[in-house]
Amino acid sequence: MRTLLVFVLLLISPLSALGAEARPRVLASIEPLAMLLREVLGETVTVDTFLLPSQTPHDSSFTPSQARKVQQADLIVWLGEDAEPSLAKLMARTQGDELAMLSLEGIYQREMVAMEEDHGEHHDHNHEDHNHGPLDPHLWLSPDNMLQLARALPAQADKLGLARETVSHAVSQFAARLVAQRQAIQAQLAPVSERPYISHHDAWGYFAESFDLQQVTPISASTELSPGSRRFIALVKQIEQQGIRCVMAEPESRRALLERLCTGQCRIVETDPLGRDLGKVGYSALLDNLANSFARCL
Ligand SMILES: [Zn+2]
Repeated sequence: MRTLLVFVLLLISPLSALGAEARPRVLASIEPLAMLLREVLGETVTVDTFLLPSQTPHDSSFTPSQARKVQQADLIVWLGEDAEPSLAKLMARTQGDELAMLSLEGIYQREMVAMEEDHGEHHDHNHEDHNHGPLDPHLWLSPDNMLQLARALPAQADKLGLARETVSHAVSQFAARLVAQRQAIQAQLAPVSERPYISHHDAWGYFAESFDLQQVTPISASTELSPGSRRFIALVKQIEQQGIRCVMAEPESRRALLERLCTGQCRIVETDPLGRDLGKVGYSALLDNLANSFARCL
């Protein structure tokens, strides 16, 4: 009996050694990409997130432990240089494999809504290249963009020691679920799609365009900025005239400012475009959460 037990343990041990330690390490630059990887690749890989919960892709300074994560990853999945310029600088010093959403074909790239105050000294989102309009870096809020990224995963299977067929199968299952979910959200938001919403910075554009929602010019170019008094008065007028009753607030937005703008019938609904409050869920949970927030707000 004892011999049998030892034998069984010997059989099991190589498997247990294939636990978290031995699994390939995939580093997602932001939480929504980690959500996608978790949803598609499941337990076959260890998924870690580069950004700390206190950071957004607009941040530019990182800790030494973040730099280590970049070095130790078997594969880094990120948005790409134009959306994450600071991470790009950090990655320039490493040799690891990477998959950038912006390097893929068919990725929809929208420009940030131009702000009148933006023509002066303010320059948000770190754009050194002036030939193009500023890219809206919130690319993950387009389900189609995320689908393109998922479709690029089977080509990475070899590098991660995974079977390409298994990954392909997981991707097609994810794609089917996403198509169904997209239709469900479209139906959920259709009754309120004519109602305008406003946000502190231009965070929701990809989601709004994906589901035909009406956004008005955001309050500021970034949540770091508050409107000047002329802009504030114009905003109050605009909110009144256009009957805007929904403010979609990012966690970084200035609550006191939003409360001064959004009075009477107007509602403030706070949601995180990065889904940092959702825990270790899949990308579909982020989409559902956003859809429910918009439905509540509008
Ligand atoms: Zn943002």
